[in-house]
Amino acid sequence: MATPERTLPQLARIPVTRLHGVGDRKAKALGELGIESVFDLLTTYPFRYIDRSRRADLADLAVGDEAVVLATVRTVRTRRSRHGRPIVELAVHDGTAGMNVVFFNQAWRARQLPSGTEALFFGKVDRFRGARQMTNPVVDVVVGVGEADGEAGSEEVSEEASEEARRRRTLRIVPVYRASAKVGLSSWEIGAWVEEAVRRAGPLADPLPESWRRQLGLVARTTAVHDVHLPEAMRVTAPARRRLAFDELFRLQLALVLRRRALEADARAIRHAVSPREADGPWGGEATLVQRFLAGLPFSLTGAQRSAMRTLFGEMAGPLPMHRLLQGDVGSGKTVVAAAALLASVQGGHQGALMVPTEVLAEQHSFALRALVEGLSVPEPHRLGGERPLEVALLTNRTSGADRQRLCRALESGAVDIVVGTHALLTDDVQFHSLGLVVIDEQHRFGVEQRAQLRDKGRASVAARAEGPGAGADPDLLVMTATPIPRTAAMALFGDLDMVVLDELPPGRVPVETVWAATHDAEERAWSRVRSEVEEGHRAFVVCPLVEGSARVQARSVTEELVHLAEGPLHGITLGLLHGQMPPSDKEQAMARFRDGTTPVLVATTVVEVGVDVPEATVMVVEDAGRFGIAQLHQLRGRVGRSDLPSWCYLLGTGDTDEAAARLAAMARTSDGFELAEVDLELRGEGTILGTRQKGRTDLVLASLRKDGDLLDAARRVAETLTADDPSLEGHPGLADELRLFLDPDEEAFLFKS
Ligand code: ADP
Ligand code: MG
Repeated sequence: MATPERTLPQLARIPVTRLHGVGDRKAKALGELGIESVFDLLTTYPFRYIDRSRRADLADLAVGDEAVVLATVRTVRTRRSRHGRPIVELAVHDGTAGMNVVFFNQAWRARQLPSGTEALFFGKVDRFRGARQMTNPVVDVVVGVGEADGEAGSEEVSEEASEEARRRRTLRIVPVYRASAKVGLSSWEIGAWVEEAVRRAGPLADPLPESWRRQLGLVARTTAVHDVHLPEAMRVTAPARRRLAFDELFRLQLALVLRRRALEADARAIRHAVSPREADGPWGGEATLVQRFLAGLPFSLTGAQRSAMRTLFGEMAGPLPMHRLLQGDVGSGKTVVAAAALLASVQGGHQGALMVPTEVLAEQHSFALRALVEGLSVPEPHRLGGERPLEVALLTNRTSGADRQRLCRALESGAVDIVVGTHALLTDDVQFHSLGLVVIDEQHRFGVEQRAQLRDKGRASVAARAEGPGAGADPDLLVMTATPIPRTAAMALFGDLDMVVLDELPPGRVPVETVWAATHDAEERAWSRVRSEVEEGHRAFVVCPLVEGSARVQARSVTEELVHLAEGPLHGITLGLLHGQMPPSDKEQAMARFRDGTTPVLVATTVVEVGVDVPEATVMVVEDAGRFGIAQLHQLRGRVGRSDLPSWCYLLGTGDTDEAAARLAAMARTSDGFELAEVDLELRGEGTILGTRQKGRTDLVLASLRKDGDLLDAARRVAETLTADDPSLEGHPGLADELRLFLDPDEEAFLFKS
């Protein structure tokens, strides 16, 4: 009888200790690499292959050749350079000839490569004092002697693993795994276990229907897993990788499509009283609220803003609930678009909510919104033909008891039209008269559950409970993000939302001149720029370094920095302070004093990262900028250059690591959010997208959102088709089980709720 095919969830239940040679100590080492089960092991992919047929004999190598040499270490010597740096010198021999191998500044090589070690050396051959030499070659240990981490070999393994390793050397193509000297695992040990796992796992169940596989030209899963780890020829590795990358993207898309279907399952839309034409004046007849708003703006809208409004209005008026992502680089003017959408809801007799992740941002937004809608009025329902001013309210966790109660009553009666707030909006005592639109700023900090919670608030609205228009309906949803994400990545991240993009900045904007100030002199110039701009009547931000520790530690460090600046580089200028630990009234006051110029320099933590809008701000100084990520730096820079004044951004610090230096160089080179996002992905890798961190699994290992655009599209198509009339995957239990491996429990409960 044929063995039943194994599924991934089954493999995920087999611990690595079931493999030969994995004892407690090796299991612990693997655990540190995140490898606990056979499934984890099989999804640990080689990062390169050694094609043995191209291995060279030392005797045949000439100076200047680049080659892979398999040789045994004969002697090891460590000495010091004149500057005291360690130099490790090896003499190696491969049976045909010998050569010297030299490592500078890698003292640990002496431990890694004691005499007797057999290793592959990749590098360029040169000649030094008459002998062949490789300098700082790449090394893969094939047969080790002792242990790299110095805990000599009490391990029960090595017999078998090195037996495997010896056998592998006869293979033509050898996979190379990311070895880790830190936990004491070599590529070859990992390779041996993987090989055993592939062999013992046998045929794998393939949840992708055969017809799709054929249509997309993908190899079977069993073939893919075999060929990625144990290829018989280099040419089979690409199709294997393609299939496995597809699976990663497919699971991701499946989760996103299911998420959307779950949200839409019993959706009931409000048909808002607005038309796409209202985005473009001039209008005839009596002006609506939206029209009065647009007509009163002190600037004319960009084409992108108009077109986004047309899209939003059309969808709000339509028969399905809106789920839109409004993406626009910093400064592209998302707030005005959001305000227009909120007013579109209000003019039909509904309310709007704007939810943001932090209190400072909530305060900022309520300030900005009030300024924008100043002077607008709405009908007073109890007085025929009467009007009252449009009401914008602010609700955060710090809103005190009495105010909060008053506000809750006003929301329930409909006396407040638009509420801006934090998570505090989600609490039970907040009830709406008729919630028509929810706008969420900076989506990445809100989970899907919170979105569902807000929707439920809309459903529970008083008007919704009653009969009549909008009864029991879902509010529309608009998510705004300034996080620059490439389109493909956005599609993967927000696959359950349709996108609308603001790809145009308001006219007259002067690009922010960005300087990476790594030297003392350059830093001096930054401070002198702050002083001269303040003299001009402009404003400057100084963002303090991130420090480890609690919010309180952070607050203290900012305060110290303020004292330092006041006594040193910014002596004589009134400095303001802003950090997350300050009471809200102090924060509001600090922002107000900065805005009106009482304190023209604001020394702050990253609380100013998003949303802060002070057009007179022309200088942003980020201290120790290498500690910040690209997206964060881009956001910070976006706080200046918000008018037609020339602006500067100074990134202080040397950028301690190569990666930090690359980030700072990229920031200085370009202001294009999309380009920066690409660099960011490049530097960080794609990381985890679904909420899987808890399970320690990353969902994209082989697939790249940037490079596998075609696979992503295909994955999307298959996911849409398969779930179209099977939204809980009942007909594809194998797929559903597999998906669960990658979901955190909340997400799982939400997607597969019965
Ligand atoms: P973001 O997209 O970063 O949230 P904002 O909505 O905060 O951008 O807008 C940035 C600044 O540009 C604000 O001061 C806003 O008033 C202004 N602004 C928005 N739209 C326009 C426009 N069409 N023309 C001129 N200024 C605009
Ligand atoms: Mg904004």
